[in-house]
Amino acid sequence: MSPATRRPLRRTVEPKGRHVARNLAVAGLSAATLRVLERPVVEPLAARVDRNGWGLLPRLGLPKPLETAAVVVLMDYTLYVWHVLTHRVPLLWRLHRIHHMDLDLDASTALRFHAAEMALSVPWRAAQVVLIGVRPGALALWQNLTLLSILFHHSNLRLPIGAERRLNRLIVTPRMHGIHHSIVPEETGSNWSSGLSVWDQLHGTLRLDVPQDAIVIGVPDVRDAREATLGHALLMPVTGPEPTGRLPDGRRPSRPPRREPSDRLLP
Ligand SMILES: [Zn+2]
Repeated sequence: MSPATRRPLRRTVEPKGRHVARNLAVAGLSAATLRVLERPVVEPLAARVDRNGWGLLPRLGLPKPLETAAVVVLMDYTLYVWHVLTHRVPLLWRLHRIHHMDLDLDASTALRFHAAEMALSVPWRAAQVVLIGVRPGALALWQNLTLLSILFHHSNLRLPIGAERRLNRLIVTPRMHGIHHSIVPEETGSNWSSGLSVWDQLHGTLRLDVPQDAIVIGVPDVRDAREATLGHALLMPVTGPEPTGRLPDGRRPSRPPRREPSDRLLP
């Protein structure tokens, strides 16, 4: 039995099988969308970067390992910016909140993205590749590292708090990202990084002072697992209702201010 099964980080509210099956179905549609729309655009662009020296990094003439490291860092930063946009631009939020509507958070949530959000991310990804100057090998490395990172920080893995604090100085960890999936708007509006945690540190959007057992996962206006069904999750961006940011009883979720420093990860 894995440590995550023995003692998960968060209590779950939905039957595991149903939750994972739904998330994998949403993920399957997203993966198919990326295969049809993203790959035929982004991979040839990366090949052109390699042939023609397009973009910022190839112009700098860095040694190959340094250029690859710079690709990973700059792609990670521009993914942070995209994640902020998915929360701030109303159309993108309608789609991205399907990811946030999950009432439980585990590695399957990491793959639960609406296919239309993936489709709208293609021009962003194309611009990242062309402007940064991302060659095919570095693109594949960044994609693999990002996939590993999001599977890890969405997981329900209870790491020893000391080890997670040390790890969190460098990368996004499960407790840090759990706070981003809280129903409290100020907490959702924090911890947007997907790989390195430095972007939240630099932008003042890091928020670590929420104990995990105080977090309610999800969005305020979808609190019933029946509303989070597969069909509903896929159709909601079109059929509504509009996101209200309020609980079913009309209240806005909030949390009294705490006295702990906001940059110290709590258990
Ligand atoms: Zn988000």
